[in-house]
Amino acid sequence: MRQAELWQRQIIGAHHMLRLFLSGCLLLLAGFAAVPAVALEPSPAMHAPKLIEPALHLPRSDETGKIRVALTFDACMGEADQRILSVLVAENIPATIFVTARWLRHNPQTVAILRAHPEQFELENHGENHVPAVDVPMSIYGIATAGSRQAVEQEVAGGASAMQAAGLPAPNWFRGSTAKYDASAMDLIHTMGFRIAGYSVNGDGGSLLGAALAEKRISTARDGDVVLAHINQPTHAAGEGVARGILALKRRGVTLVRLSDVADMQDGTLTH
Ligand SMILES: [Zn+2]
Repeated sequence: MRQAELWQRQIIGAHHMLRLFLSGCLLLLAGFAAVPAVALEPSPAMHAPKLIEPALHLPRSDETGKIRVALTFDACMGEADQRILSVLVAENIPATIFVTARWLRHNPQTVAILRAHPEQFELENHGENHVPAVDVPMSIYGIATAGSRQAVEQEVAGGASAMQAAGLPAPNWFRGSTAKYDASAMDLIHTMGFRIAGYSVNGDGGSLLGAALAEKRISTARDGDVVLAHINQPTHAAGEGVARGILALKRRGVTLVRLSDVADMQDGTLTH
Protein backbone atom coordinates (compact mmCIF):
# COMPACT_ATOMS: atom_id res chain seq x y z
CA MET A 1 0.00 0.00 0.00
CA ARG A 2 1.32 3.40 -0.92
CA GLN A 3 1.93 5.84 1.93
CA ALA A 4 -0.68 8.33 0.62
CA GLU A 5 -3.35 5.61 0.51
CA LEU A 6 -2.51 4.54 4.06
CA TRP A 7 -2.88 8.11 5.37
CA GLN A 8 -6.24 8.43 3.61
CA ARG A 9 -7.48 5.24 5.25
CA GLN A 10 -6.30 6.46 8.66
CA ILE A 11 -8.06 9.79 8.18
CA ILE A 12 -11.32 8.04 7.16
CA GLY A 13 -10.95 5.75 10.18
CA ALA A 14 -10.44 8.75 12.49
CA HIS A 15 -13.53 10.47 11.05
CA HIS A 16 -15.55 7.35 11.65
CA MET A 17 -14.38 7.16 15.27
CA LEU A 18 -15.20 10.85 15.77
CA ARG A 19 -18.71 10.36 14.40
CA LEU A 20 -19.25 7.38 16.66
CA PHE A 21 -17.97 9.40 19.61
CA LEU A 22 -20.20 12.38 18.83
CA SER A 23 -23.33 10.29 18.34
CA GLY A 24 -22.48 8.56 21.63
CA CYS A 25 -22.32 11.97 23.33
CA LEU A 26 -25.67 12.94 21.86
CA LEU A 27 -27.24 9.71 23.10
CA LEU A 28 -25.76 10.37 26.52
CA LEU A 29 -27.09 13.93 26.53
CA ALA A 30 -30.49 12.70 25.43
CA GLY A 31 -30.34 10.21 28.26
CA PHE A 32 -29.62 12.93 30.82
CA ALA A 33 -32.32 15.20 29.41
CA ALA A 34 -34.84 12.37 29.68
CA VAL A 35 -34.18 11.70 33.38
CA PRO A 36 -36.43 14.41 34.92
CA ALA A 37 -39.13 13.81 32.34
CA VAL A 38 -39.15 10.11 33.14
CA ALA A 39 -39.19 10.83 36.85
CA LEU A 40 -42.02 13.39 36.81
CA GLU A 41 -44.29 12.68 33.87
CA PRO A 42 -46.28 9.49 33.79
CA SER A 43 -45.39 7.26 30.88
CA PRO A 44 -48.29 6.52 28.53
CA ALA A 45 -48.32 2.98 29.94
CA MET A 46 -49.13 4.42 33.42
CA HIS A 47 -52.25 6.18 32.07
CA ALA A 48 -51.83 9.80 33.15
CA PRO A 49 -54.79 10.45 35.44
CA LYS A 50 -57.46 12.94 34.55
CA LEU A 51 -56.94 15.81 36.97
CA ILE A 52 -59.97 17.17 38.77
CA GLU A 53 -60.26 20.70 40.11
CA PRO A 54 -63.32 20.62 42.35
CA ALA A 55 -65.63 23.62 42.60
CA LEU A 56 -67.34 24.66 45.80
CA HIS A 57 -70.36 26.93 46.25
CA LEU A 58 -72.44 28.00 49.20
CA PRO A 59 -76.14 27.35 48.72
CA ARG A 60 -78.05 30.39 47.46
CA SER A 61 -79.00 32.78 50.19
CA ASP A 62 -82.62 32.41 51.41
CA GLU A 63 -83.24 36.12 51.62
CA THR A 64 -83.74 38.15 48.47
CA GLY A 65 -81.01 40.65 47.93
CA LYS A 66 -78.76 39.08 50.53
CA ILE A 67 -75.36 38.14 49.13
CA ARG A 68 -73.28 35.58 50.99
CA VAL A 69 -69.64 34.84 50.12
CA ALA A 70 -66.94 32.71 51.79
CA LEU A 71 -63.38 34.01 51.78
CA THR A 72 -60.79 31.22 51.80
CA PHE A 73 -57.04 31.76 51.83
CA ASP A 74 -54.15 29.42 51.23
CA ALA A 75 -51.02 29.74 53.36
CA CYS A 76 -48.76 27.50 51.31
CA MET A 77 -45.33 28.34 52.71
CA GLY A 78 -43.25 31.47 53.25
CA GLU A 79 -44.56 34.43 55.21
CA ALA A 80 -47.88 35.94 56.26
CA ASP A 81 -49.33 38.82 54.24
CA GLN A 82 -50.12 41.41 56.89
CA ARG A 83 -51.82 43.67 54.31
CA ILE A 84 -54.62 41.09 54.15
CA LEU A 85 -54.51 39.88 57.76
CA SER A 86 -54.69 43.39 59.21
CA VAL A 87 -57.84 44.16 57.18
CA LEU A 88 -59.48 40.91 58.30
CA VAL A 89 -58.66 41.60 61.96
CA ALA A 90 -59.52 45.33 61.91
CA GLU A 91 -62.84 44.77 60.12
CA ASN A 92 -63.68 41.59 62.06
CA ILE A 93 -64.14 39.69 58.79
CA PRO A 94 -64.45 35.91 59.12
CA ALA A 95 -62.27 33.74 56.89
CA THR A 96 -61.17 30.15 56.37
CA ILE A 97 -57.39 29.77 56.11
CA PHE A 98 -55.74 26.63 54.73
CA VAL A 99 -52.32 26.14 56.34
CA THR A 100 -49.45 23.75 55.66
CA ALA A 101 -47.19 22.28 58.33
CA ARG A 102 -44.34 24.28 56.76
CA TRP A 103 -46.21 27.58 57.02
CA LEU A 104 -47.23 26.88 60.63
CA ARG A 105 -43.60 26.26 61.58
CA HIS A 106 -42.40 29.51 60.02
CA ASN A 107 -45.14 31.86 61.23
CA PRO A 108 -45.70 31.29 64.97
CA GLN A 109 -46.61 34.93 65.65
CA THR A 110 -49.31 34.98 62.98
CA VAL A 111 -50.59 31.60 64.17
CA ALA A 112 -50.93 33.15 67.65
CA ILE A 113 -53.05 35.99 66.17
CA LEU A 114 -55.27 33.50 64.34
CA ARG A 115 -55.65 31.34 67.45
CA ALA A 116 -56.61 34.44 69.46
CA HIS A 117 -59.70 34.88 67.22
CA PRO A 118 -61.23 31.39 67.01
CA GLU A 119 -64.73 32.75 66.33
CA GLN A 120 -63.38 34.67 63.34
CA PHE A 121 -60.73 32.42 61.77
CA GLU A 122 -61.31 28.83 60.84
CA LEU A 123 -58.05 27.03 60.08
CA GLU A 124 -58.05 24.05 57.75
CA ASN A 125 -55.58 21.61 56.22
CA HIS A 126 -53.42 22.59 53.21
CA GLY A 127 -51.09 19.58 53.65
CA GLU A 128 -47.73 18.87 55.19
CA ASN A 129 -45.24 19.87 52.49
CA HIS A 130 -47.42 21.47 49.83
CA VAL A 131 -47.20 18.62 47.34
CA PRO A 132 -50.23 18.12 45.07
CA ALA A 133 -52.49 15.28 46.27
CA VAL A 134 -52.19 13.16 43.13
CA ASP A 135 -51.17 9.53 43.58
CA VAL A 136 -49.28 9.22 40.28
CA PRO A 137 -45.87 10.82 39.75
CA MET A 138 -46.23 13.85 37.50
CA SER A 139 -45.75 17.58 37.58
CA ILE A 140 -48.42 20.31 37.97
CA TYR A 141 -47.31 23.91 37.37
CA GLY A 142 -43.77 22.57 37.84
CA ILE A 143 -44.53 21.06 41.27
CA ALA A 144 -43.90 17.32 41.64
CA THR A 145 -47.01 15.50 42.88
CA ALA A 146 -47.10 13.24 45.95
CA GLY A 147 -46.84 10.40 43.44
CA SER A 148 -48.23 7.47 45.42
CA ARG A 149 -51.21 6.60 47.59
CA GLN A 150 -48.96 6.44 50.64
CA ALA A 151 -47.46 9.87 49.91
CA VAL A 152 -50.93 11.44 49.46
CA GLU A 153 -51.94 9.94 52.81
CA GLN A 154 -48.78 11.37 54.42
CA GLU A 155 -49.42 14.84 52.93
CA VAL A 156 -52.97 14.93 54.29
CA ALA A 157 -52.32 13.28 57.68
CA GLY A 158 -49.07 15.24 58.19
CA GLY A 159 -50.88 18.53 57.63
CA ALA A 160 -53.61 17.60 60.11
CA SER A 161 -51.24 16.42 62.82
CA ALA A 162 -49.08 19.58 62.50
CA MET A 163 -52.23 21.65 63.10
CA GLN A 164 -53.08 19.71 66.23
CA ALA A 165 -49.47 19.96 67.41
CA ALA A 166 -49.77 23.77 67.02
CA GLY A 167 -52.80 23.75 69.33
CA LEU A 168 -55.38 24.18 66.56
CA PRO A 169 -58.65 22.28 66.37
CA ALA A 170 -58.70 19.17 64.18
CA PRO A 171 -59.43 20.21 60.58
CA ASN A 172 -62.51 19.13 58.64
CA TRP A 173 -61.49 20.31 55.19
CA PHE A 174 -58.49 19.58 53.00
CA ARG A 175 -57.32 21.62 50.05
CA GLY A 176 -54.23 20.28 48.31
CA SER A 177 -51.45 22.25 46.69
CA THR A 178 -52.58 23.45 43.20
CA ALA A 179 -56.21 22.53 44.14
CA LYS A 180 -56.02 19.64 41.65
CA TYR A 181 -56.44 15.92 42.41
CA ASP A 182 -57.00 12.63 40.69
CA ALA A 183 -60.12 10.62 41.43
CA SER A 184 -58.41 7.90 43.49
CA ALA A 185 -56.64 10.49 45.67
CA MET A 186 -59.98 12.25 46.23
CA ASP A 187 -61.51 8.92 47.34
CA LEU A 188 -58.62 8.41 49.75
CA ILE A 189 -58.95 11.92 51.22
CA HIS A 190 -62.69 11.38 51.75
CA THR A 191 -61.97 7.99 53.38
CA MET A 192 -59.61 9.77 55.77
CA GLY A 193 -62.59 11.85 56.90
CA PHE A 194 -61.93 15.16 55.12
CA ARG A 195 -64.09 17.17 52.78
CA ILE A 196 -62.24 18.57 49.79
CA ALA A 197 -62.39 22.34 49.56
CA GLY A 198 -62.80 23.55 46.01
CA TYR A 199 -63.65 27.14 45.19
CA SER A 200 -65.62 29.14 42.64
CA VAL A 201 -63.66 32.40 42.25
CA ASN A 202 -59.91 32.37 41.67
CA GLY A 203 -59.30 35.66 43.44
CA ASP A 204 -55.59 36.22 42.81
CA GLY A 205 -54.44 33.76 40.13
CA GLY A 206 -52.07 31.95 42.49
CA SER A 207 -51.00 35.35 43.90
CA LEU A 208 -49.63 36.29 40.48
CA LEU A 209 -52.32 38.74 39.34
CA GLY A 210 -51.82 42.49 39.37
CA ALA A 211 -53.49 44.35 42.24
CA ALA A 212 -56.28 45.87 40.13
CA LEU A 213 -57.38 42.54 38.65
CA ALA A 214 -57.32 40.74 42.01
CA GLU A 215 -59.40 43.56 43.50
CA LYS A 216 -61.92 43.32 40.64
CA ARG A 217 -62.27 39.53 40.85
CA ILE A 218 -62.90 39.60 44.60
CA SER A 219 -65.04 42.72 44.79
CA THR A 220 -67.43 41.35 42.13
CA ALA A 221 -68.03 37.97 43.84
CA ARG A 222 -71.66 36.84 43.63
CA ASP A 223 -74.02 35.18 46.07
CA GLY A 224 -72.78 31.66 46.88
CA ASP A 225 -69.20 32.21 45.77
CA VAL A 226 -66.22 30.65 47.53
CA VAL A 227 -63.23 32.92 46.86
CA LEU A 228 -59.71 31.51 46.86
CA ALA A 229 -56.72 33.82 47.41
CA HIS A 230 -53.29 33.57 49.02
CA ILE A 231 -52.22 35.04 52.35
CA ASN A 232 -48.55 34.02 52.17
CA GLN A 233 -47.03 36.33 49.53
CA PRO A 234 -46.48 39.73 51.16
CA THR A 235 -44.17 40.89 48.37
CA HIS A 236 -46.61 40.23 45.52
CA ALA A 237 -48.80 43.01 44.15
CA ALA A 238 -51.86 40.74 44.22
CA GLY A 239 -52.17 40.93 48.03
CA GLU A 240 -52.79 44.66 47.94
CA GLY A 241 -55.68 44.07 45.53
CA VAL A 242 -57.00 41.21 47.66
CA ALA A 243 -57.12 43.52 50.70
CA ARG A 244 -58.97 46.21 48.70
CA GLY A 245 -61.35 43.62 47.23
CA ILE A 246 -62.30 42.40 50.72
CA LEU A 247 -63.04 45.95 51.84
CA ALA A 248 -65.15 46.48 48.71
CA LEU A 249 -67.20 43.35 49.49
CA LYS A 250 -67.87 44.72 52.95
CA ARG A 251 -68.94 48.09 51.51
CA ARG A 252 -71.37 46.23 49.20
CA GLY A 253 -73.03 44.77 52.30
CA VAL A 254 -71.98 41.21 51.44
CA THR A 255 -72.27 38.71 54.31
CA LEU A 256 -68.89 37.03 54.69
CA VAL A 257 -68.84 33.52 56.17
CA ARG A 258 -66.47 30.67 56.95
CA LEU A 259 -66.92 27.23 55.45
CA SER A 260 -67.91 25.88 58.88
CA ASP A 261 -70.76 28.43 59.08
CA VAL A 262 -72.58 26.78 56.20
CA ALA A 263 -74.01 23.28 56.62
CA ASP A 264 -74.97 22.45 53.07
CA MET A 265 -72.01 23.11 50.77
CA GLN A 266 -72.40 22.34 47.09
CA ASP A 267 -69.62 20.45 45.33
CA GLY A 268 -68.99 20.38 41.62
CA THR A 269 -66.16 20.43 39.15
CA LEU A 270 -64.58 23.57 37.78
CA THR A 271 -64.36 23.82 34.04
CA HIS A 272 -61.76 26.04 32.43
ZN1 LIG B 1 -50.93 26.39 48.24
